[in-house]
Amino acid sequence: MTPLTCSCCGSLFNGIQETTHDDGYGTCSHCVTTVIEPKINQELDKIVTVLEQRGSKDFLESFTAKDQVQKRQFALKCVEKGLINWSFGG
Ligand SMILES: [Zn+2]
Repeated sequence: MTPLTCSCCGSLFNGIQETTHDDGYGTCSHCVTTVIEPKINQELDKIVTVLEQRGSKDFLESFTAKDQVQKRQFALKCVEKGLINWSFGG
């Protein structure tokens, strides 16, 4: 564990230095659950909506049977595979 400054709320916390953050910075667990995760879910919900609007009939048959968490996971996979152009926070 490394002493880090939360780049979101500015509080000091002990965490793991991640390569996605500048040295000495990170995101505290409070901000991950109250700020980052809701934001990511909000963005994923937008992708889910797009998928539901543009998906083929066959696709929607299985997709609409999933719950929202599974739909988000699918949306995330699409982003990771580069199937959907998604810029976080954009
Ligand atoms: Zn924070």
